[in-house]
Amino acid sequence: MKAAVARCQAAILPGVTSPAHAILRDVFGYHEFRGQQHAAIERAMAGQDSLVLMPTGGGKSVCYQVPALLGEGTTLVVSPLIALMQDQVSALHELGVEAAFLNSSLTWEAQQTIIGLARHGDLKLLYIAPERLVQPATRDWLREVPLSLIAIDEAHCVSQWGHDFRQDYLALNQLRDWFPGVPRMALTATATALTRADIIERLALTDPAVLVSGFDRPNIRYQVQPKTDARSQLARFLEPHRGAAGIVYCLSRKKTASIAEWLNTQGYAALPYHAGLAAADRAAHQRRFVTEDGLIIVATIAFGMGIDKPDVRFVAHLDLPKSLEAYYQETGRAGRDGEPAEAWMIYGLQDVVRLRQMADESVASEEYKRHESQKLDALLGWCEVTGCRRRPLLAYFGEKLAEDCGNCDNCLNPPAVRDGTVEAQMLLSAVYRTGQLFGAAHVVDVLTGKSTAKTRDNGHESLRVFGVGADTPAAMWRSIVRQLVVQGYLRADPARYGGLVLTDKARAVLKDAATVELRSDPLVPKKARGKTKADAAGVPDEIAITDIQLWDALRECRLRLAKEHDVPPYVIFHDATLRQMVHDKPADETALLAISGVGQAKLDRYGAEFLEVIRAEG
Ligand code: ADP
Ligand code: ZN
Repeated sequence: MKAAVARCQAAILPGVTSPAHAILRDVFGYHEFRGQQHAAIERAMAGQDSLVLMPTGGGKSVCYQVPALLGEGTTLVVSPLIALMQDQVSALHELGVEAAFLNSSLTWEAQQTIIGLARHGDLKLLYIAPERLVQPATRDWLREVPLSLIAIDEAHCVSQWGHDFRQDYLALNQLRDWFPGVPRMALTATATALTRADIIERLALTDPAVLVSGFDRPNIRYQVQPKTDARSQLARFLEPHRGAAGIVYCLSRKKTASIAEWLNTQGYAALPYHAGLAAADRAAHQRRFVTEDGLIIVATIAFGMGIDKPDVRFVAHLDLPKSLEAYYQETGRAGRDGEPAEAWMIYGLQDVVRLRQMADESVASEEYKRHESQKLDALLGWCEVTGCRRRPLLAYFGEKLAEDCGNCDNCLNPPAVRDGTVEAQMLLSAVYRTGQLFGAAHVVDVLTGKSTAKTRDNGHESLRVFGVGADTPAAMWRSIVRQLVVQGYLRADPARYGGLVLTDKARAVLKDAATVELRSDPLVPKKARGKTKADAAGVPDEIAITDIQLWDALRECRLRLAKEHDVPPYVIFHDATLRQMVHDKPADETALLAISGVGQAKLDRYGAEFLEVIRAEG
């Protein structure tokens, strides 16, 4: 029967171009390689080193999993993330591949069994934590394993410029000496030029091919808004996403707890996640997020590394991340399945002051601080851009976008720009006249002529600028402050608790020697988002109303099988695969095999059950 299916498959899937391609189709059920996957595989098969740069969700694992299945011997995968190892190994088992992982979560006996299998060459893939690999005892028995490739996942962990430096990675520069002749493939989603060079040097890769692809995530819609009232802005953003899974990022632990609690009162299922929670709670919350449908995790940045959940529909930032790169990483956890997803962020002046303060107070070297400060500036500049957001985002990673994306707030709803020189002059002189000692709130009070204890006590009501901007709403003034900060006319000085200070650039404006361009529409929070992508039950809007029953039935079938096999639902089939089933309504195994995500092993294992559901409901 297997042979028959294989024949059918060859018939309906013509154009298999290489043995690697055949593995991709037969084992993984994917029709085409993505980006530089094929190049990376060829490189490994030729016994040469490479550095593979692909964003989160780009498909890095295929780059070493296909060579692992193509060749003789065992592929060693170095991975720092225990949760990810487990998920990857269960996913491989689902595909019928011999794979195992070794880390501290296993009992001694279990570890011995796996070491035995490895020594006999019975594993196609062996995942190992770096701290284990660097132990001399491990290397001793690993020398007996017929290694064909060493994949170093999350390779940016070796770089101090990265956000996740790990000491144990430094020792990996000795892999070439430990296992001579075994090609190495370093993989990461972190691709700035600096990190890239650092990885190659510190891992001592030999003449590596640098393969960059797929940083664009066209299905993610980027939206950035000034922070006015975080909770109601969040509520408005979330409303169309009821029933969908998502992550809300905050800067502080306390805030994650209070936002999660509040979301629960608003009828959402939300859980907090931060480094201060007990380890058991963290693990439980993470597990629930991965296995349940439609849960919201409210997290500090401690959450996310190692989360391989494809159907995260949104990532919301209530506070600014540390850098554009961190932002890209964090938002990259949305929409890994390629379905529409949203990256939504609100930010305000307080974030900027706080992040600058954190950087200034850290004990790091001046060079490091300057580096951090430049990264923050790049992020702020990006927040206030008036053109397509995706272009500058990709440019940061060295990838070019041919045209505007059409899927970011600025593309969909171009912010008007206008000559803001006169307002800038008013504001800058208000800052100057009040002695460059006060924060945005007070300066705006002075401009709008609002009488407060502070304006009275400081004698600011007799200043010429007092009330000079009364015709413009205070919220607009706050936005102008923000834009002038971002454009470098003003600095919020942490040493003065965020007091605004003029820069040299500002003096030219005050002297009428330079003009200032401002967004005309920046601050008033938008009433409604653009198109809604998912309805209350999390049904993708491309699914016709008549098919919703089938969609639900397929998901129910998937959930039942997931429970039986003790794996997350997406390990069975991704949403995209189910969606195509709804669309194509395959009637037999041949038709089912033609669907992306259905390979031979999954067909054998689950095909009959899904076909039955389609027959009954379709
Ligand atoms: P990364 O490690 O780069 O974050 P993964 O290797 O986990 O990404 O892959 C992300 C998703 O894309 C997975 O669900 C994977 O099965 C899928 N995928 C990878 N390569 C392909 C391909 N060529 N065609 C279709 N889907 C793919
Ligand atoms: Zn755009």
